Amino acid sequence: MSTQAHETGFQPPRHGPFKAGPRTPAERRTPLVGMDRGELTAFVEQLGEPKFRAKQLYHWIHHRGATDFDQMTTLAKGLRARLPEVASLDRPMVKDKQVSHDGTIKWLLRLADLQEVEAVFIPEEDRGTLCISSQVGCTLTCRFCHTGTQRLVRNLSAGEMLGQIMLARDELNEWPTPKDGRRLTNIVLMGMGEPLYNYDAVAKMIRQAMDGDGLGFSRRRITLSTSGVVPMMQPCGEELGVNLAVSLHAVDDATRDYLVPLNKKYPLDQLMAACRAYPGLNNARRITFEYVMIDGVNDSPAEARQLVRLLDGIPAKVNLIPFNPWPGTEFECSSPEAIERFSDILYAANLSAPVRTPRGQDIMAACGQLRSESQRQKKSVRDAAAPAAAEPAG
Ligand code: SAH
Ligand code: SF4
Repeated sequence: MSTQAHETGFQPPRHGPFKAGPRTPAERRTPLVGMDRGELTAFVEQLGEPKFRAKQLYHWIHHRGATDFDQMTTLAKGLRARLPEVASLDRPMVKDKQVSHDGTIKWLLRLADLQEVEAVFIPEEDRGTLCISSQVGCTLTCRFCHTGTQRLVRNLSAGEMLGQIMLARDELNEWPTPKDGRRLTNIVLMGMGEPLYNYDAVAKMIRQAMDGDGLGFSRRRITLSTSGVVPMMQPCGEELGVNLAVSLHAVDDATRDYLVPLNKKYPLDQLMAACRAYPGLNNARRITFEYVMIDGVNDSPAEARQLVRLLDGIPAKVNLIPFNPWPGTEFECSSPEAIERFSDILYAANLSAPVRTPRGQDIMAACGQLRSESQRQKKSVRDAAAPAAAEPAG
């Protein structure tokens, strides 16, 4: 882990808030989903088992997707009987599942401490993308984002993020890890939360998701979206090498300060410099700049031209996202004409600028519509996590 992660200042506790009092036997069981090879080795050694058991366990968990120790037929019977008492293979629990008329699936997931997050599966003709959450809520109060109105409760652990992928694989019936013909082909960190404010756990999760002997997603099929946590962009590119998406949304500091308050901390010149320096960029591997189209706020032809200037020299593509409304928002989506005009200006400058078709809007699963009900928690529980929520956005 690079030291820079800590310089961002914000690394709220991985777990918690915890209940006081004695834990139940189920809570005492060690969760194995999310453990890397080293941790699994330490775990089996603690049980007095030989090291090679860790390799077997890893294979059953990450390649075969076992949800029950009984399935693990290569393990000795005695160990198979003992494991359920001391360990668990739990994924997040599905509290609710909604299927949109366009085939998008949204799961409301309940975590061990009863916090909730959402994950969304978006099937397309040539791919299937799972959008996962990295935090419960978000500290960054982007004005157009529903998640931003939800107070951050905590970071997700690597296991809780990996659990979202495993659960989608369970639901899509895609175990063992298929070589070809997968429905779930791509992972995007575009759900709830700012992944670069939970870098350690995100990195641990991504390394496991990329393991060819495990879940087997290539780095080219994993995209991390950030609102612009500048100091963490370099480590992300260097250490993980995943595709980067940057939530730009505005081309001048005043507008971006308003829409994405993090811009006050890392203004456009710093953000664009970090993009230019993102490791491994070339024409085949570009940064995706996300740009939400908001009526009268950031959608003028002059802003499109400024965007072209801003991206000059960066291997880039632009994703225009029609603003998805949510209850209580101050904004409206740009008109189809404004979006087309904007897109035409970018195309004329040789920038690829597709308009993202909203998916799962009818089930509030589209970009920026995710929000779980954690803010309704009792105040005492929220206060226990208060340090995590105290980070000023700007
Ligand atoms: N926190 C990260 C990743 C999650 S948001 C980030 O901000 O990049 C995923 C994308 O949806 C971001 O580009 C975000 O700006 C966009 N988004 C948020 N609210 C939206 C809305 N109401 N309509 C359309 N896109 C939205
Ligand atoms: Fe957080 Fe991203 Fe939403 Fe901004 S757009 S509030 S960073 S989830």
